[in-house]
Amino acid sequence: MGHHNDEQDLLADLVRLGGVVALTGAGISTDSGIPDYRGATGAALRRHAPMTYREFTHDPQARHRYWARSHAGWPVMRRAQPNAGHRALAALERAGLVTSVITQNVDGLHGTAGSRQVIDLHGRLDRVTCLSCARITAREEIRVRLDAANPGWAPEPDRRNPDGDVDLTAEQVATFTMVDCTECQGPLKPDVVYFGESVPKERVARSYEQVDAASALLVLGSSLHVYSGRRFVMRAAERGIPVAIVNIGPTRGDDLAAVRVDASVTEILQGLAIHSDAPEAPLESTRA
Ligand SMILES: [Zn+2]
Repeated sequence: MGHHNDEQDLLADLVRLGGVVALTGAGISTDSGIPDYRGATGAALRRHAPMTYREFTHDPQARHRYWARSHAGWPVMRRAQPNAGHRALAALERAGLVTSVITQNVDGLHGTAGSRQVIDLHGRLDRVTCLSCARITAREEIRVRLDAANPGWAPEPDRRNPDGDVDLTAEQVATFTMVDCTECQGPLKPDVVYFGESVPKERVARSYEQVDAASALLVLGSSLHVYSGRRFVMRAAERGIPVAIVNIGPTRGDDLAAVRVDASVTEILQGLAIHSDAPEAPLESTRA
């Protein structure tokens, strides 16, 4: 742990009172090897602009390219494990101090770490939806079908993007065979919210309910660049609910924060869990 400062003491006091709702972003998963492309060095990690919802749904070639890159990147994404920060946050929930987690991440690592009350604001990369009939399938099932449809197709990726895809050559993309929905032969889409796509209303409403009932909103590892997450900070501030932000580097919610800690999310969460006597719990499940 680094040295303690006044802001960290204020943060510990807030958390000790309980009723904390956490809003997490890419910064909590960087220690699990998932790069934060919005962070200081992150922009350089991404050669392409992220695909928009319109491009995905209207451009079959772009969709094919996406699936080829995503399938190539999936083995590593699937192996990602929660880090000490995810586990500390789950421990704070078991200790009764954190009531729920609203996450902007699509990696599913909060659940793997043992957090129970999780709202996956932007969906989950381990689920796939059909654009025609909306049937949800486990990504692992699609992975098995894609492996069967692509014998010997195993490109060595050189770049990895935070949503789990990798860069491939045009030839690697061209030789990839995609599969369709088994129910209706419709096109498949990862069950994540794309740029230009709205978060489902019901999910937003549940998130607002959590924030409205919170004693404090704790932002962890998000620059709050995207309105989809920032709106909850604005809501808390409107309602006089204190906002604490832990993030390396400035965020777009800093002017609304009662407490601002510029430090590693993992270290700060570990410190909070230790000082609140949160029970150390076994990992309930790890990914295969
Ligand atoms: Zn379908």
